[in-house]
Formats: sequence, C-alpha cells, structure tokens
Amino acid sequence: MRFNRQLESIKTYEGGKPIELVMREYGIPPEDIVKLASNENPFGTSEKVVETIRNYAPDVYMYPDDSMLELKTALAKKFGIETANLIIGAGSDQVISFAINAKANKHKKVLTARTTFAMYDIYAKQIGAKVIKTPSHQHNLDEFYHLYKKDGDVGIIFLCLPNNPLGESLDKKDVFEFISKIDDNTMVVVDGAYQDFAAAKDPAKKIDPKELIETFPNTLYLGTFSKSYGLGGMRVGYGIATEEIMNALYKMRPPFNVTSLSLKAATAAMEDEAFVQKGIENNFREMQKYEAFAKENKIDFIDSYTNFITLLFKKEKNASEIAQLLLKKGIIIRDLQSYGLNGIRVTIGRPEQNERFFTEIAPLL
Ligand SMILES: *Cc1c(COP(=O)(O)O)cnc(C)c1O
Repeated sequence: MRFNRQLESIKTYEGGKPIELVMREYGIPPEDIVKLASNENPFGTSEKVVETIRNYAPDVYMYPDDSMLELKTALAKKFGIETANLIIGAGSDQVISFAINAKANKHKKVLTARTTFAMYDIYAKQIGAKVIKTPSHQHNLDEFYHLYKKDGDVGIIFLCLPNNPLGESLDKKDVFEFISKIDDNTMVVVDGAYQDFAAAKDPAKKIDPKELIETFPNTLYLGTFSKSYGLGGMRVGYGIATEEIMNALYKMRPPFNVTSLSLKAATAAMEDEAFVQKGIENNFREMQKYEAFAKENKIDFIDSYTNFITLLFKKEKNASEIAQLLLKKGIIIRDLQSYGLNGIRVTIGRPEQNERFFTEIAPLL
C-alpha cells in the first residue's frame, strides 16, 4: 500500500521503555527495575490525586465537561490570566499539534533547535510542513534569528525552555529581546514543560506566561502535568495565549479531548503544590550527585535546568552500548543516539534509585 509521501521522512516516536517490557525481555522483577527514562516524578503522584481518581471512578460513564472550566479556573488563578486564554490538551503534545496545524503548511515552515523535543518535527512532517533547525544542538538565539530572517517563510518557532533532551535554558531577557524582533504573523511557542524546575534553580530563566502573552500577542506558552505534577499517565497539558490564538487552536480540537478523570486529577494535583515542591527540591539536591559523579569519571554533562541530566561520553565509550548494558541490569535511561549524540539522558530519581544508577554504570565506564 502507498501512503502519503510526507510519512517517508517521519521517524516513529519512541518513548522511554516501559517497566513491563524490561520485565518480559530480561526477566527482571519489577522491584529491581529503575526507570529513569521519561522525566516522570520519581515520587509518583500526590495522594490527593489518587483519592480524587478513586472518588470519581463511578462517574466515567458520563462524557467529560467539555468546557473544562474547573481546571481552567484553577490554571487561570495560578497564572493571573482569564480562562479564555487557555486550552487544555491530552498532554501539551496535543496543543503542539494544534499550533502546528494552525500555523504551518507546505509553504510555512517550522523553526526549531537542532536537538529538541521530537514531536515538533513529527507533527510538522505529518502535514507536509518543512522543518528548519539551527546548526547548534542547544538553543542559540542568534542562529534562530539568522534562519528566520534568511528563510523568510517561517510560520512557527519553537523555543523549548528548558530544552528536552539536553537540559539547557535561556534567560528571560534574552528570550524577550529575541521575540521582539519577530513579526506579528509568526507564532513563537515557548514550551515550558520544565519551567518550574528552571525557575527554582535560577529566577533569571523564569518565563511568566501572563507577561509573555501580554508583551507579545504572537506567543503561545505550553505547560504540562506530566513532569513535576506526576501525572504522565493522565495526559493533561495546556496552552496559554491571546483569545485570537485560542479561537484558531479550538478549531483543531477534537471533542472531549481530555478524559473526565484526567481533568479531576489535574485539578487535584494543583491543590497539592507541596508535593510538587518536594520533588523539585529532591531534584536539585540529587542532581549535584550526578554532577560530582560525572566529574569524577571525566564524563561531560550539560548544566541542567530540568529533572534530568544529559551525560556526553568521549569517543572511546559508546552511549548506545552503555544504555543496552544498563537495561540488562534493569536500569532504563534514554539513549541519545537517534539525535546524533554519543550520550544518555537520565531522569533524576529518588536517592536510592540514583545510587543504583551509579553502582550499575560505574563498571561500564
Ligand atoms: C514531556 C514534554 C512535553 C509534553 O508532554 P505531555 O505529556 O504531552 O504533556 C512537551 N514538551 C516537552 C519538551 C516535554 O519534555
């Protein structure tokens, strides 16, 4: 069978390997498996969320409230915006696809960093839009500006701040200066999936969605409940922008795109910010151990503003081999070979998970 031509250039997205797969393939009992591959919250999810899901389980026969007003009201309050400035997606992933569908096409390109969240590229290619990428792996705003100017046909720019899978971020003032040079008809997306981590580590990196969209009406801010809030399995994310942008994005939204339990879970998660803070504090405390380990073992690492750290190996060591050997020992991390990098991305876990990682990787170095 022949399929649409644009599918030929798409690499199927590979998520972090699930625990079940490692159990099956290597016969390792689940309690011995350490998953540090998908940037999930290592403390799980808040008890309040679990209780809420239990309470609302009997209601699943009903369609969700498609206005999603309860969650939107909580988000609007948190960010000091109006509910009309919000759209909720099945993960912020879905909002990325809405934005690309609204702003890119065969003639209007997508501009991203060379090594960034894979879904920008995949959604763009699905609709036959070209993706142009900066020469540098990490975000370099001069390169972004140069390509934007030179090409002249960019519909949407993605800034992943902080960047997945590398971990770097940019100062707000530099980001604002960059956006001020972009024309009103080009959408600039700030993907803030890890913004709460960045803001905790360095306030200069913090990008406030309200300030962003009020200063620049051509911007879209993205947030997710999958990382610090511990709700990856519920698939909830959101976009924040002007009503004009919202009107366009809503045209792309399938009906009932977020489940009723997901909406309840996200609302409950917002009522337990202490749980989120605990995760962020553990993250940066434990990250220091990774940095010390990397220095001791002469491994390069990227200064990270997220809940993961990217380790880059010297030529003599093969990251894919290391990832494979770790997997056999029940340690799941992310190999970055598909990005053209000889490195791995490791989610910062609980102290005992991180110790297991150091113990298992040491003999492979
Ligand atoms: C995890 C992630 C998302 C969104 O995840 P969802 O689970 O779809 O909300 C978006 N952008 C980046 C950079 C991410 O790492």
